[in-house]
Amino acid sequence: MTTKAQNYLQNFRNIGIAAHIDAGKTTTTERILYYTGRIHQIGETHEGASQMDWMEQERERGITITAAATTAQWTRSGTDDVYTINIIDTPGHVDFTIEVERSMRVLDGAVAVFDASQGVEPQSETVWRQADRYGVPRIAFANKMDKTGASFELVINDIKERLGAIPAPVQYPIGAESEFQGIIDVIRRRAYFYTNDLGTDIREEDVPAEYADKVAEMRDQLVEAAAEVDESIMDMYLSGEEPSEEQLVAALRKGTVEKLIFPVLCGSSLKNKGVQLLLDAVVDFLPNPLEVPAIKGVLADDTSEDPETRTFPADPEGQLAALAFKIMADPYVGRLTFVRVYSGTMTSGSYIYNASKGKRERVGRLLKMHANSREEVDVLKAGELGAVIGLKDSGTGNTLIGDGDEEVLLESIDVPEAVIKL
Ligand code: GDP
Repeated sequence: MTTKAQNYLQNFRNIGIAAHIDAGKTTTTERILYYTGRIHQIGETHEGASQMDWMEQERERGITITAAATTAQWTRSGTDDVYTINIIDTPGHVDFTIEVERSMRVLDGAVAVFDASQGVEPQSETVWRQADRYGVPRIAFANKMDKTGASFELVINDIKERLGAIPAPVQYPIGAESEFQGIIDVIRRRAYFYTNDLGTDIREEDVPAEYADKVAEMRDQLVEAAAEVDESIMDMYLSGEEPSEEQLVAALRKGTVEKLIFPVLCGSSLKNKGVQLLLDAVVDFLPNPLEVPAIKGVLADDTSEDPETRTFPADPEGQLAALAFKIMADPYVGRLTFVRVYSGTMTSGSYIYNASKGKRERVGRLLKMHANSREEVDVLKAGELGAVIGLKDSGTGNTLIGDGDEEVLLESIDVPEAVIKL
């Protein structure tokens, strides 16, 4: 049951973009920040500037893709529903560092970016296994569809063969390599053609005749996959009834959140194709903070082998439980402690307790980091991420709770090296 105070969480997505080096994580993130900051719907047109002009202008304005967590707003295409998407920076290290593991712990879902000309490379496999280890639901983005040798089928096949996962292709590319023109939404049976370099002018059409059979076949497979995870779709499937788009999305979302299937999308972030549809898919398929298992903690003074645990559901009215996951030095304000608040509400000017260090700390100011601005806020509520100014002793991985509350340590993420090795 969701209480009224928890309602806002349904429109939250805390995600990471996971990729091995060179697959296009930086380009994809830049595009996401551009579209979330400037353009809210498919169909809005911003003509005039060439792509290079635009990227340079954005660079001059100083897009902050280096923040450990960046907050963006996205209006789901075709609706008025606004979503808060927090993008958590997942370090691109290929080794199993604690830092990667820690960032995996604070996100609820991830976009795995693959280079469609390479398929699943050994390094992408490593990133995928890390996400597996932390039970992170994922969607896959076959990037670089414009590149010579790009193949959507290759990525789908590799997800099956190399990762042993069940892909659910929800899109199909229109053309490939230099002829890559657009994307078909298989669920809704709509085609999107990109008619300018910025990806801001998108023509929506019926599925072109030459793709009709392929898309019909793919859609049948999606219904079958959905039937496997959802009984009502199974009943419809058996009686030959066609599920509605909403029912199909809901069932595929369930399968994704339960990590049974992995929706696969395609695009070219460099050529500005497919990024808005990727954001729509983040909203459609990746979980909100209420849909993932609540974080657990153990009583700090219970040294027994099987210590007592407490659960902290995402609720702004619950007890404060937050995790410091990254410390950054800022030239203007000094030490920034990035936190994810899991439960309760952190208030600027209040005292909190660092249960890992056994120290009381004062929260100075609270910031939400946007692509090219920072916003000072009074509170960070359950499900939110932001930066705290003023914490002196809190380090990465520390548990922050309410001053005077029962001392609890959140689920350990400082996993010993030996355990991390897969
Ligand atoms: P990262 O290492 O994963 O962050 O990858 P980058 O975003 O820095 O991209 C690596 C290289 O691939 C750069 O030279 C990009 O310009 C290029 N790249 C990224 N996305 C695409 C794409 O969609 N198509 C093509 N052809 N190249 C891309």
